[in-house]
Amino acid sequence: MSPPRPVTSCPGSGPHGRSAVIDLHTDALYEHVRGRRDITLWSDKGHLDLPRMREGGVDAEVFAVWTNPKLFGPGQRLRFVLKAIREFKAICRREPAALCLALAPTDISAAKAYGRIAGILGVEGGHALEGDVGNLTRLYRRGIRLVTLTWNNSNELGRSCTARDGRHRGLTRLGRKAIRRMNRLGIIVDLSHTSERTFADALEASAAPVICSHSACRALRRFPRNLTDRQLRDLGQQGGMVGIVFLPYFVHRDHLRVTLDHVVDHIEHAASVAGIESVGIGSDFDGFSDRPPVGLEDVTRIPALAARLRERGFSQPEVDRVMGGNFLRVWAGIAACGRAQPTD
Ligand SMILES: [Zn+2]
Repeated sequence: MSPPRPVTSCPGSGPHGRSAVIDLHTDALYEHVRGRRDITLWSDKGHLDLPRMREGGVDAEVFAVWTNPKLFGPGQRLRFVLKAIREFKAICRREPAALCLALAPTDISAAKAYGRIAGILGVEGGHALEGDVGNLTRLYRRGIRLVTLTWNNSNELGRSCTARDGRHRGLTRLGRKAIRRMNRLGIIVDLSHTSERTFADALEASAAPVICSHSACRALRRFPRNLTDRQLRDLGQQGGMVGIVFLPYFVHRDHLRVTLDHVVDHIEHAASVAGIESVGIGSDFDGFSDRPPVGLEDVTRIPALAARLRERGFSQPEVDRVMGGNFLRVWAGIAACGRAQPTD
């Protein structure tokens, strides 16, 4: 069989303009690996699958591998991540025209040219490292390119924003070591879910830009998972970025009445504080059971977000940056920083 040829009309070439559309966080792979849904098939359940991503013109997605710390004890967490990686690669082999693994930023534009969706693999929650920084190298070799330092539980690397457990309020010594290793490998350091102290410590410790893959703005919704203006400013100054989350409870107090416009409010605020070059989208699709924002019911609605940004006064180049251009730039910077780090 001959290899697929580049297509002239790629997903995302419509209302989004020509730059890649990239969503920085979904839990859909977790649903798939747990056997709850097959992400290769269209479904009216959940928020995201490959056919609906095509319909929504999404070119690349960070598939987070979350290991539920209540379900997986020590020793089982890394094993689950490895299993999820194997399953993701099995989908890529089964559906080569639909999905491929992105190991570098250039893989996204290459995949887009062939009309494929590029999947970036991430680990959500450093507890999956099982306390061993060496596992970062192991995971990198298998295709992991992003690690969210904590989930809602604190772990060996640092304190989360919602837990009061653990001795340390911020980043631990092992957490610093993990960041050095991630910088060297070119793994993206993701600080969504971390405590303010862990965030500040990590920003100081990281030689490469960092991101918050799925967070919103605390100035608009007072909630510990959301970023303060100071955090947004620091992220922007450090060259990193935030992916604005769609999770209704993070976006507005009255979570049953959240609309697409509330999400745009957060994008607008983050852009005004961190800078337009530091904002993206991180839906958290399939990571919440609340009713999604009206107008952003699932991944097929992503073009409506781009269109609303235009209506709300963002220029087309600014919309392109938010929808994916900023992440491409930040990831390229992180990868280049990795190559420049001394080896140990
Ligand atoms: Zn999360």
